[in-house]
Amino acid sequence: MDCIFCKIVKGEIPCTKVYEDVDVLAFLDVNPVSLGHCLVIPKQHSENIFDISENVLQKIIVVGKRIVEKLKTVTNIPAVNLVNSSGKDAGQEVMHFHLHIVPRRENDGLKIHGEKPKNLQKPSEQELQKLAELIKF
Ligand code: 5GP
Ligand code: ZN
Repeated sequence: MDCIFCKIVKGEIPCTKVYEDVDVLAFLDVNPVSLGHCLVIPKQHSENIFDISENVLQKIIVVGKRIVEKLKTVTNIPAVNLVNSSGKDAGQEVMHFHLHIVPRRENDGLKIHGEKPKNLQKPSEQELQKLAELIKF
C-alpha cells in the first residue's frame, strides 16, 4: 500500500521517533505547527476514526497522554491540543489514522478550531433535544 505512515512504520521512510511499542508509534511532525508537535499512529493501517478499532484507539490516547506529561515535564507547556482529522472534509491529508499532540503557548497565534462560519445559526433547545435523541445510545 502506498501509505507514507505505513512506510514510516516499516522503516522505509525515516522519522524522529519519540515512542514505540508493538501497536503504536509516535514521532515528531516533520512540519510542526508548534515546538514539540507529535503524531501518534497505529502501526497497523487504519484510515481514520471510522475504521480504527476501539482497542487500538485506547492505546493511542494513552500514549498521547504520556507524551503530554513528558512534554509538560521537559518543556513546561501550559496547554495542549489533541487533534484528529478524519476524512478529507475534516482536513485529513495523510489517510492513516494519526493523533496530533500540539503544544500550546500563550499568544502563540494558532487557530486549531478554525473560524466559525459567519451565518452560523444557534440551534433551539428543541432542535438540540431532537438531535440528542437520534444520537444517544
Ligand atoms: P493531517 O492534515 O492529515 O491531519 O496531518 C498530517 C500531518 O502529517 C501533517 O502535520 C504533516 O506535517 C505530517 N506529515 C506528513 N508527512 C510526514 C512525514 O513524512 N513525516 C512526518 N514526521 N510527518 C509527516
Ligand atoms: Zn498506512
